[in-house]
Amino acid sequence: MIRVALAGPRGKMGAEALEMIEQQDGFELVGLLDSKVTDELSDYPVFISILDLLKETNPQVLIDLTTPELGMSHTTEAIRHGVRPVVGTTGFTPDDLEQLNQLCEEYKVGCIIAPNFSIGAVLMMRFAEQAARYMQDVEIIEMHHNQKLDAPSGTAIKTAELIQTNRVSHRQGHENEEEALQGARGADIEGIKLHSVRLPGLVAHQQVLFGGEGQLLTLRHDSFTRGSFMPGVALCVKEVMKRNELIYGLENIID
Ligand code: NAP
Repeated sequence: MIRVALAGPRGKMGAEALEMIEQQDGFELVGLLDSKVTDELSDYPVFISILDLLKETNPQVLIDLTTPELGMSHTTEAIRHGVRPVVGTTGFTPDDLEQLNQLCEEYKVGCIIAPNFSIGAVLMMRFAEQAARYMQDVEIIEMHHNQKLDAPSGTAIKTAELIQTNRVSHRQGHENEEEALQGARGADIEGIKLHSVRLPGLVAHQQVLFGGEGQLLTLRHDSFTRGSFMPGVALCVKEVMKRNELIYGLENIID
């Protein structure tokens, strides 16, 4: 049995994860970390302090599905206490990742941070990385529900980073291009343009558009329900038990 604790159990992702942990053979849910103690989750011990949760329930893995600032502090404390984090929370900065990388090395504790737990989305990222070898002009449109706090999405940033491993940095569009309205051309990673759409009704969707002379290649992935993320979360919980380092991205643990 893997002793699992969950942070953010009343959130949209957290509620799905709670159900997944309950149903998954070999997982035992030992405690919950929440912003307040409510009657809703009375089947499990609920804590509002990460230190109390770690001390009282002695988990092996902490799944974090909260907000960027909280996620960073929960993950840091977990590693310091020898508990392996599986982090779905997005919005970590390169500095955060570097700090966590060093912490994992220092404490010899595994940690998996996956901006996208959906296997289909990871395949989309891989295909995008491959396509960039042949098509260097690319823009990313990511679309999410209107409660999402960070923009662009962690998946969009990760996709751009993977594409960039096969792409020479360059400015895209016309060299004299000007924005008549600020933001019209989107965010920029090494010349790759990223556009974020936030609308009610959406879950998580992304298109990667590669343009070439007389042609357009579109890679598209849609998560219609948050259930699409749960096989990836379960996989990460099992995998993090075998690791002693920081892994960033689900693509690094699937063949
Ligand atoms: P959400 O519904 O807003 O859930 C966040 C939860 O964190 C809320 O229940 C919130 O509780 C809780 N929280 C706030 N303060 C807390 C504290 N001090 N301790 C513990 N929990 C606390 O958001 P969501 O859609 O589930 O997304 C959660 C995170 O996962 C986001 O960063 C999102 O971008 C990310 N995400 C990742 C993936 C992936 O595949 N990796 C997929 C979808 C989403 P209150 O309501 O009381 O504030």
